[in-house]
Amino acid sequence: MKERLQAMLEVARGAVCEVETEKSLLDIRIQYLGKKGEMTSIMKSMGALQPEERPIVGALANQVKEELEQLIETRLADIRQVEIVRRLTKETLDVTLPGRGRFAGSKHPITLVTEEIVEIFSALGFGVAEGPEVEKDFYNFEALNIPKDHPARDMQDTFYVSDDIVLRTHTSPVQIRTMLKQAPPVRVIAPGTVYRRDSDITHSPMFHQIEGFLVDHKVTFGDLKGILTTFINRFFGKGVGVRFRPSFFPFTEPSAEVDIQCVICGGKGCRVCKNSGWLEILGSGMIDPEVFKSVNYDPEVYSGFAFGMGLERVAMLKYGVNDLRLFFENDIRFLRQF
Ligand SMILES: [Zn+2]
Repeated sequence: MKERLQAMLEVARGAVCEVETEKSLLDIRIQYLGKKGEMTSIMKSMGALQPEERPIVGALANQVKEELEQLIETRLADIRQVEIVRRLTKETLDVTLPGRGRFAGSKHPITLVTEEIVEIFSALGFGVAEGPEVEKDFYNFEALNIPKDHPARDMQDTFYVSDDIVLRTHTSPVQIRTMLKQAPPVRVIAPGTVYRRDSDITHSPMFHQIEGFLVDHKVTFGDLKGILTTFINRFFGKGVGVRFRPSFFPFTEPSAEVDIQCVICGGKGCRVCKNSGWLEILGSGMIDPEVFKSVNYDPEVYSGFAFGMGLERVAMLKYGVNDLRLFFENDIRFLRQF
């Protein structure tokens, strides 16, 4: 029995010295010290010994077992140390390598033009107002001098939620809501999302407008021209040609559409301006007395003007974007350019 223990220890010692990995070392531990291991089976067979031999062999067996455990522990520590060194050599960090850059987010071009326009009008004394996108027919049409059977309703392909509720087709209802709440003088601009049943290269069913209006004593068409010309010069640059063309809107009288000299060709004529040299950017006019009546302003005492423009169109001209849909596709390669 003693010889068997000694022999086993020798074999085990050799095996422990030879292993290279933690896994094989643990296998050896199981092989010798596990529940079904060699050491255990030797201990079990001690019952067959003479009673006087048992304590001697037992002491030896414990000694061998401890030695074996010690051997394995030492080897395990060695293997782990070697592994750490190997890993450190392999995973050296080159601190001189340039870092990986992170892309910072940027504002959407529609947000950028909205902010710029708001800033220009703020400097001219205008406050900002907002209103709901799901709107009552009254605010979107009736109060703006567009009764139910009015042909002007055909100009705007409306999304109806019910007979009386629409997705607002323009930001003009904010004008009505503001005037119903506030007595003149008012100077307000209202940027926002609007909806129309229309979708192609130059139309999106959801788009953005900015509305502005000013009401006070003795406001004239000259004031309208002055404010809008100032805005255009600040937004598109000084020296850009501006012209006012007679037009029609149900809620203004007289009405004018505002063109700027083509920013692409400088007025010589190109595909974008359809060779006219001019680009339409704004609708405007003196607020119709009928509109004043529906918000309880006295048209004999007050006058005012209103204007509105499509923010996508303005952004296309400002940044030279030729397809409206780019604003809605959220292609990061497009958006990063702003
Ligand atoms: Zn042009």
